[in-house]
Amino acid sequence: MLVKTAHPGGAFGAEVVDVGTGGVVAVRGDERAVAGERGPARDGYDVVVVGGGAAGLSATLQLARSRRSVLVVDAGEPRNAPAAAMHGFLGHDGLPPADLLARGRAEVRRYGAEVVRGRVDGAARDGSGFAVRLAGGREVGARRLLVATGLVDELPDVPGLRERWGRDVLHCPYCHGWEVRDTPVGVLGSPAALHQAHLFRQLTPDVVLFQHTAPAPGAAEREELRARGIRLVEGEVAGLVVAGDELTGVRMRSGEVVPRRALAVAPRFVARSAVLESLGAALSPLTVDGAVVAVQVEVDGGGLTSVPGVWAAGNVCDARAQVVTAAAAGAAAGARINADLAAEDVERAVAALRSPEPARAVG
Ligand SMILES: Cc1cc2nc3c(=O)[nH]c(=O)nc-3n(C[C@H](O)[C@H](O)[C@H](O)COP(=O)(O)OP(=O)(O)OC[C@H]3O[C@@H](n4cnc5c(N)ncnc54)[C@H](O)[C@@H]3O)c2cc1C
Repeated sequence: MLVKTAHPGGAFGAEVVDVGTGGVVAVRGDERAVAGERGPARDGYDVVVVGGGAAGLSATLQLARSRRSVLVVDAGEPRNAPAAAMHGFLGHDGLPPADLLARGRAEVRRYGAEVVRGRVDGAARDGSGFAVRLAGGREVGARRLLVATGLVDELPDVPGLRERWGRDVLHCPYCHGWEVRDTPVGVLGSPAALHQAHLFRQLTPDVVLFQHTAPAPGAAEREELRARGIRLVEGEVAGLVVAGDELTGVRMRSGEVVPRRALAVAPRFVARSAVLESLGAALSPLTVDGAVVAVQVEVDGGGLTSVPGVWAAGNVCDARAQVVTAAAAGAAAGARINADLAAEDVERAVAALRSPEPARAVG
């Protein structure tokens, strides 16, 4: 494996504009082509970051500003892509999700990080580092890996939900709650539904809890719902009613339509963990009331997975992370990785100093 630690030249403001076959990526700005038959820009990096969302790019910012060579490989499918605006990120509230990431890519490139559009298929240990396989055949070396690939929202099996996801089919009161304040909101039955219903009730007086296929609430829960004026509708939901590209109601199996402008659902959060699994990283379930609501990668407080040299940050290891917390976890992991590399650099430098061989530059 080739490992190169020289600080790469910057690609100021370059932007990915096209993804070709064979991993070839055209970038506007410096017009470089990276990977594939045109040949890699370089073969070894201090860190390869898999996933260029808020977590991956924040880690990259820390690392690139510490003069680490970083390659970010990003498939370009951030989880919040269906949403028109991102909320709850101080200083960026209301920004379109894609704009935040475009700013992030421009910022990390200023410090020399490379960001390419592509997909990592897997990775394997290679000496003290890793060999990282990109779709299309390119392979790059990395001393350390950060995986920030996010998660997949597995939506409940109700016709029409997928089409409205991120618009008026929602999951998070912090992301979208303000936008549906004072409107008729429904909550689809799930292990998280009571919790969601009470949080949305904070935002609107008109909340309906659809029991759907979830177990019936107990007496204490029914009393809490009554006390907060949340109506329980028994029976299974059959689909959504949409008019003029807006949700207008929820259709029950009985045929009844309950007028609603938004529906909160609880997806099953499944980590995009294929790369981490290819390295043998441990996963664990997250349960609410005995039901598995998420499968995520295990990390310590600094984002280190069960595989030495491999870190994770963001939704892949924390299903509850919002953009700001995913970014914070990425920044923390980036700093930990830099410290780990610094320790190795010291070790190597001391070994080189003690070596009877002519000194060779390290780092
Ligand atoms: C509809 C919706 C709306 C939301 N709105 C908000 C909001 O308003 N505010 C808020 O704070 N949070 C919001 N969230 C949550 C937010 O999406 C996440 O907190 C955030 O995306 C997590 O960032 P991340 O970097 O961990 O993952 P992501 O943003 O999902 O980024 C992961 C990146 O990794 C890439 N990737 C995956 N696998 C590979 C691979 N093998 N090789 C290369 N790249 C790969 C993906 O394509 C993606 O670009 C919303 C979520 C949803 C579903």
